[in-house]
Amino acid sequence: MSARAFVASLFAGSLALICLFTLVAFQIIWGLISDLLPAKLGVFGFAFPTAFIIYANGILLYLLIALIFAFLYQMIDRLFIKPVKFIGTAMDEFAKHSRQVPLPDFAHTIEEVDGFTKAFLEYTDSVEKVHERDMEVSRMKSDFISTAAHQLRTPMTGIRWALEALQTSGLTADQQALIDSAVGKSHDLVTIIGTLLDISSIESGKYKYKFEAVDMAGVLEEITRDFSPLAQARQVALYYNKNETPLGKARADRERIKWVLNNLVENAIRYTPAGGSVQVSMDAGLGRIFIRVKDTGIGIKEGDRSSIFERFYRAQNAVQKENSGNGLGLYIARTIATDHGGDLNFEPNKDGQGTTFSFSLPLAN
Ligand code: ADP
Repeated sequence: MSARAFVASLFAGSLALICLFTLVAFQIIWGLISDLLPAKLGVFGFAFPTAFIIYANGILLYLLIALIFAFLYQMIDRLFIKPVKFIGTAMDEFAKHSRQVPLPDFAHTIEEVDGFTKAFLEYTDSVEKVHERDMEVSRMKSDFISTAAHQLRTPMTGIRWALEALQTSGLTADQQALIDSAVGKSHDLVTIIGTLLDISSIESGKYKYKFEAVDMAGVLEEITRDFSPLAQARQVALYYNKNETPLGKARADRERIKWVLNNLVENAIRYTPAGGSVQVSMDAGLGRIFIRVKDTGIGIKEGDRSSIFERFYRAQNAVQKENSGNGLGLYIARTIATDHGGDLNFEPNKDGQGTTFSFSLPLAN
């Protein structure tokens, strides 16, 4: 119930009670004194029936009481209800959108409400300044990462090509092994640089999408095919549970969603010990396609739940299982999934060990 409705009903109730009591009292007194009064009374030279004059005065008295109540209600509204309501709306707006709402001048309110309004304005001012400073620092960090990554990419790509050329140039077995390892590492470095560039464009709001109708069954098939050599090498069974009836196309950025699925499937294989399995599946409902990647791997501890999507975070059990990894994949994957309107999340498997990651995409019209 709002404060206004509460005060209004309190006043209306009191007014009704007062009117009822005075009416009863009036009837009793009138019964006692009516015989003692003359039948007519003269007012301004006119003769009016006595009962009429007394009842007219009674009605005037009621109107006066109603006016006093209306005045009191106005005062309470102006002094307390309006300012508190404004501050409530301003707080809500500030909490939800970090935006200051200009407050009207409550000069006619009581000292305490005025003090509270001023304290609130000072608080939002200082929070806003801290927020602006944080944004500036974060923009500078993003710019730095972006410039550094751009600067690194060109020489790194050159080194990778040179190493790849050396790979086929008649080396001894030892030299070949060294060059193969250097090529592998240079591939990893180029991937990390690409990931850093993605992150800096996400953070500067320049990460763009090209939405189109995408046949997700085809994408899932392609991804399971691409990852079967890695799964085989790791002795992990990789399945795609095909749907019997087609689910329709999704509205998505094909390349970006492939990026998400590559990350999820690769993680599932890397974090599943030999002998385990990874299953990719999808179904449709409520105008969306739900995609799941389920593994029988090392799992994610409840304590890591809130950190797993943060940049550079790697859980302890994952570091022990795989020393390669940078903790950036899920951060980007969640951003992409969220930008498609379907949050990326995970749950521990109910029917055994391991984890299921899932996200959803809207069905294309
Ligand atoms: P990376 O795998 O390179 O460390 P990600 O951002 O892809 O980075 O993943 C972040 C962390 O989430 C991983 O280090 C690991 O702790 C955890 N994780 C992701 N996928 C799985 C999975 N399928 N099973 C267990 N842990 C996982």
